[in-house]
Amino acid sequence: SVDVHDAVERLKADDIDVVRVVYSDLIGVDRGRDVVVDRLPAVMEHGLAFCRAVYHTSPQGDVVDVAGGLDAGLPDICVRPDLSTLAPVPWERGVAQCLGEAYEPDGTEPCSEGPREVLRHAVARLAELGLTAVAGPELEYFLCEPDPAAPNGWRRYGEGPGNVYTVGRRTDPDGHLLRTLRHLRDLGLDVTMGNHEFSCGQFEINLHHSEVLDAADRAFRLKAAVRELARVEGRLATFMAKPFNDDGGSGFHVHLSCVDEAGDNVFDGQSSYGGTTPHTPRNGLGAGPDGLSPTAHQAIAGIIAHAPALTAIFNPSVNSYKRFGPDTLAPWLIDWGLDNRSAMVRVPPERGGATRLEVRLGDAGANPYLGIAALLAAVYLGVRDKLTPPPPLEGYGYDPARAARLPGTLTAALDALAADTDLIDVLGARFVDAYLAYKRDEVARFERYVTDWEFREYAHHI
Ligand code: GLU
Ligand code: MG
Ligand code: MG
Repeated sequence: SVDVHDAVERLKADDIDVVRVVYSDLIGVDRGRDVVVDRLPAVMEHGLAFCRAVYHTSPQGDVVDVAGGLDAGLPDICVRPDLSTLAPVPWERGVAQCLGEAYEPDGTEPCSEGPREVLRHAVARLAELGLTAVAGPELEYFLCEPDPAAPNGWRRYGEGPGNVYTVGRRTDPDGHLLRTLRHLRDLGLDVTMGNHEFSCGQFEINLHHSEVLDAADRAFRLKAAVRELARVEGRLATFMAKPFNDDGGSGFHVHLSCVDEAGDNVFDGQSSYGGTTPHTPRNGLGAGPDGLSPTAHQAIAGIIAHAPALTAIFNPSVNSYKRFGPDTLAPWLIDWGLDNRSAMVRVPPERGGATRLEVRLGDAGANPYLGIAALLAAVYLGVRDKLTPPPPLEGYGYDPARAARLPGTLTAALDALAADTDLIDVLGARFVDAYLAYKRDEVARFERYVTDWEFREYAHHI
């Protein structure tokens, strides 16, 4: 572990006088405090106190009534910095950033609703099976510019549509992506690449794969950094699932594999974990063995069996369900396929050590810690219960006669989560109860709110 006095010396030598300690709230918003560098040793000793309401307060300031919150007088949580994550903030002179983690007020036990702790819990369950999960997150977002004439005051940046996989100034006139990519690299996030996505002003940035807690840390920091950098440019970067009616949504795709204690990829058909199957690398076309191990099939089956409950966490907003739909490249049905981008789980064509699932279910608005935790919980259950997946989807993936539909609303997904006792058991009842209470309150507030659509639909006609 990093010695705090050494860290302070190094920061001062680099002309850094403030450490920004950030941690994830329930919905993935970065919260924290700017700490004067000389106070860092004291903060390491005592932690930083925050009101526990951070886990129960909506972005619009509503404090939701969650057990252990309002009813308990909104006690403190204690946030402890993790100095192993300390990194200078490339775009803010004199500032370094560091991840924090929430503990109970006595500072001994991590907070059970803390997203990092929820993920660590899921990691530990998978470890009971001798498995370590590795994730490579991909995040899409829209960049917007202020425009008083646009709905909500923001219009899409650049030109479009139809500019997917373009690079350079034609679709990114101000070099936003280059600048962002370099800053994220310099922040130490191990980004691999970025590109323009399908819609006007929509970009994607990919992270190198790593052990899931580290991958989720970096995905969380990436989202916070991209939002912050857009602000620096006077713009708005949004990871919300479906910000515009006439464009596609933004996904949070997770490339997921598992390794055994020897570090071998257990999803590969030649893996010795759980038996072997013929190894036939293929591109997803034609019949024949798919080159996946029984463990990979069980993992896929777990994701499929628990998909309705998973959506409650991977697709966490009332807006999320507007991203799902036929012909969108977002999923609509609960299915999987070999190199099939219309499926909820796509198996990319590589095999051997690169054998992996691309889970396309999540939207970019998901809390990366919680989305990955729920995913691991489903994989754990699939492997533990030795589940069998349905046959893989071939061809067109949006035929509702071929597979069950994903939940159509956040309420349907929350009901599925509340009913999935196996998944709740893995994720922890205290976390799930707090999450359900928070999200049910969100739905209730939305349902009471009169939208623009209603006025247009009804006001002049009825
Ligand atoms: N934007 C799509 C989604 O919401 C994904 C597009 C892609 O395949 O990159 O998942
Ligand atoms: Mg993409
Ligand atoms: Mg992808």
